[in-house]
Amino acid sequence: MASRDHTGAGRVSGWHDSSCAVHRKRLYASRARARKAARHAHGEHLREYRCDQQDDMWHIGHLPADVRQGRRTARQIYDTGDTDA
Ligand SMILES: [Zn+2]
Repeated sequence: MASRDHTGAGRVSGWHDSSCAVHRKRLYASRARARKAARHAHGEHLREYRCDQQDDMWHIGHLPADVRQGRRTARQIYDTGDTDA
């Protein structure tokens, strides 16, 4: 019996995004997905940031006031380092 080629099927078990119990925000399972969602929010200055409670999970949110007022850069806040990936 020839087995069917399930290209892509079952590759990602958790496609649907869940929510974070700590921050009560939507969780994204990858940075790329969070970024894509942020870009769809036209007129909003949203960007992705890593949830500090769960590894490899992401949220999107508004830029903090400190960034908008120039006291800190977005990189200072959001660049949590990629060395632990
Ligand atoms: Zn969170």
